[in-house]
Amino acid sequence: MKIMTAVKRVVDYNVKVRVKSDQSGVDIGNVKMSMNPFDEIATEAAVRLKEAGTASEVIAVSCGLAQSQETLRTALAIGADRGVLVETDAELQPLAVAKLLKAVIDKEQPQLVILGKQAIDDDAGQTGQMLAALLDWPQATFASHIEIGDDKATVMREVDGGLEVITLKLPAIVTTDLRLNEPRYVTLPNIMKAKKKPIETVRPADLNVDPAPRLKTLKVVEPPVRKAGVMVPNVAALVEKLKTEAKVI
Ligand code: AMP
Repeated sequence: MKIMTAVKRVVDYNVKVRVKSDQSGVDIGNVKMSMNPFDEIATEAAVRLKEAGTASEVIAVSCGLAQSQETLRTALAIGADRGVLVETDAELQPLAVAKLLKAVIDKEQPQLVILGKQAIDDDAGQTGQMLAALLDWPQATFASHIEIGDDKATVMREVDGGLEVITLKLPAIVTTDLRLNEPRYVTLPNIMKAKKKPIETVRPADLNVDPAPRLKTLKVVEPPVRKAGVMVPNVAALVEKLKTEAKVI
């Protein structure tokens, strides 16, 4: 069984981003970029299935700038076998990514495709769902446990009221939640090994996909600055302030 994972290059989660002065977006010049954390979990899940003998090959796919090669190298160091870079300078929105991933899937024919539940830069949380719709495949979102059986996957999902367990026929789409696994620490020998693994580069035109954005960002603004708090001497004073100043009770 072939497994494909989708890995996005995003601003590292430790970076405090700044909005550009023209409010057109976030300034990503000279900031540290890393693999989207949910995609690390997706890759770890796929590699564990390969190590358990369930999967025969793990292919990592990234769409975006040439630098996304680095993200693919990280996926290869975690244990993926090869990478596919869909290289483009175009701004990619979830629908375009879903179309690009579908084109790669049509060619590679994986039985399971694992994506993150959301990319921490755009927080869209849409790509996996759109991809399942385009392929007309079953999907299990927010997975916290995956088991593969004969032609089917059993997935535990984190829902509001607790945990839901569903089965779906393969091929299928799964998106990862935080508690699916803890990705391994990438070791130096594995980084060295990853350098020798193949990465194929294609362009959207090779896949007959037009990645042009469908949505227009009107503006991006910083969240309001939090005001400093005040110390109150006791609970009575707190209640008084909540009544008279904050007017919340
Ligand atoms: P989003 O819908 O943008 O929140 O992204 C959800 C998931 O789709 C991510 O966790 C990735 O697995 C995948 N994805 C989104 N954008 C890309 C991209 N440019 N390249 C590869 N995978 C992506």
